[in-house]
Amino acid sequence: MNYLDLTTEERQAAIAGLGERPFREKQIRRWIISGAESFAEMTDLSAALRAKLTESFSFERAKVELTQRSADGTKKFLLAFPDGQKAEAVFMKYSYGNTLCISTQVGCNMRCAFCASGIGGKIRDLKAWEMLDEYLVCRKAAGEDINHIVLMGMGEPFDNYSQVSAFLNDIHDPKGVGLSFRNITLSTCGLVPYIQRFAEEFPQANLAVSLHAATQEEREKIMPVAKAYPLSELIPACRQHAEATGRRITFEYALIRGKNDSQQHCDKLASLLRGMNCHVNLIPLNPVAESGFSTVSRDAAHRFAQSLENAGIPCTVRRQLGADIDAACGQLRKNALAQKRL
Ligand code: SAH
Repeated sequence: MNYLDLTTEERQAAIAGLGERPFREKQIRRWIISGAESFAEMTDLSAALRAKLTESFSFERAKVELTQRSADGTKKFLLAFPDGQKAEAVFMKYSYGNTLCISTQVGCNMRCAFCASGIGGKIRDLKAWEMLDEYLVCRKAAGEDINHIVLMGMGEPFDNYSQVSAFLNDIHDPKGVGLSFRNITLSTCGLVPYIQRFAEEFPQANLAVSLHAATQEEREKIMPVAKAYPLSELIPACRQHAEATGRRITFEYALIRGKNDSQQHCDKLASLLRGMNCHVNLIPLNPVAESGFSTVSRDAAHRFAQSLENAGIPCTVRRQLGADIDAACGQLRKNALAQKRL
């Protein structure tokens, strides 16, 4: 049994079973959130306890299985967890610092029409320690510090809220990594009830919402989640989040040729968001073969951005990092799986 896979209660029971006092669990947890790779390293535990733990449990962390390096400094890591499941994390260099894009699930159930992560559905949720391992293992493999994280990899973070929130508290813990909540951004496809909860529990963290369409009819066509949580509920929840936290919300809008990229689409988007403390991140679609959608030129993206700015909505066109590697969400894992099948 992998000690890392146990819940806090199970760890406490296991420690009591070894005849040890309860505070040992906290001591071991501190080593885990600091990246220890074995019980043997936990030098504030007695040698006898370290030996008992090693005998009773395995201590297996995530490993980097594949690395792709882009000429622009982006590094994409395929991580393997002890049960053999895989997820990807991407290291990116920005002017404000190094950022890691973290996956929260293996696969995804949201089935957005343009996204590679949802092909095949969700395999399983990632545990808090596995998300922390994405950070620790990639920081080591990148050989550089990482001071921002974005939960924009594979998976829907609000579909795995309890583990995601435990992870955020772990990575924030000053006894471990000590990452500031202000340097954390969570991206959701719009699971409305969690938006308010996230504002209450993590008021200093940043929220990004994947919008991709400005009308209910068009959003439903590309994002099935819109049927459960329509724009008429999503937008007020976003306004409330921005007001409650005083933080600027980011809206992600992937530009898909012929679907959401016209002047009318731009006008609708501007009127939907008018008056909100927000920012739009325009992403020229990363084409995924299975989706049948095509992308827009960077010039077209900049024209869309200019009109949106003229309408009073701050926006940027996302810099395309890692274009020479499998950059779109879920593609590295998907392509690695496909190659294995051949
Ligand atoms: N489930 C969360 C986070 C993961 S996806 C969410 O939906 O926000 C991170 C972002 O990449 C989302 O905005 C998602 O819609 C977008 N995305 C997914 N596939 C894409 C593609 N092929 N091209 C451009 N953006 C894509």
